[in-house]
Amino acid sequence: MVVATGYFDNPNRLGVPGEDSPWVSHYYDEPYRWFDRDVTVVGGRNSAAEAALDLFRNGARVTLLHRGPKLSEGVKYWILPDIENRIRAGEIRAIFNARCEAFRMESVTVRTALGVSEVPSDFAYVLIGFHPDTAMLRRFGIEVDEETLAPRLDADTLESTVPGLFLAGAVVAGKETNTIFVENGRLHGSKIVPAALRYVRNP
Ligand SMILES: Cc1cc2nc3c(=O)[nH]c(=O)nc-3n(C[C@H](O)[C@H](O)[C@H](O)COP(=O)(O)OP(=O)(O)OC[C@H]3O[C@@H](n4cnc5c(N)ncnc54)[C@H](O)[C@@H]3O)c2cc1C
Repeated sequence: MVVATGYFDNPNRLGVPGEDSPWVSHYYDEPYRWFDRDVTVVGGRNSAAEAALDLFRNGARVTLLHRGPKLSEGVKYWILPDIENRIRAGEIRAIFNARCEAFRMESVTVRTALGVSEVPSDFAYVLIGFHPDTAMLRRFGIEVDEETLAPRLDADTLESTVPGLFLAGAVVAGKETNTIFVENGRLHGSKIVPAALRYVRNP
């Protein structure tokens, strides 16, 4: 058996009041309904940068909130200068070193070194990554590292601590979801198949 369930079902959460409101989403969808409206994007990596640019280019007033001092250097090299230039030009408002404290119907409460303020917001996208469903892995009997959320695996075969149970794709990465892509995850099959064939009586 091979578990290849990825991580998209489990978005990371801020754990602040209002996060489950109808005016907050942990998944980006489309920008058009936000034309001429105030939208907050929380995050500082690829998803947040791409969503902020798409919203801006389709007429939304965008505020990007990031807990770090600048956007991640892991943002794709063709996206990073684009978003940085939009921020520099004042076309996208960015607030760095910012903690999002609550999502209200018409604003987001933000704490910075200057204090607490309300940022006008009709809708907010919280785009701060994902994590695999470790509860399911544990139910299968697979050992999962408490800190990294990575399943314990044989690196050569991707067989878990349960004999005959393999993992493939992004679920292998634990919290480090940005280390497995389509390009390298698809190669997991060539590690798994030779090892899995050992369990087949007449391959
Ligand atoms: C915003 C963003 C942009 C990205 N861009 C790129 C990119 O440009 N290039 C690139 O290479 N990678 C990119 N990635 C990473 C890429 O999407 C993942 O590495 C890839 O999708 C992982 O494939 P997977 O098969 O492991 O998981 P997934 O593609 O997530 O597939 C998992 C499947 O398992 C199903 N599933 C989940 N739980 C269960 C369950 N309990 N029972 C049954 N089925 C279940 C899901 O419905 C899904 O069909 C990006 C990721 C994000 C978040």
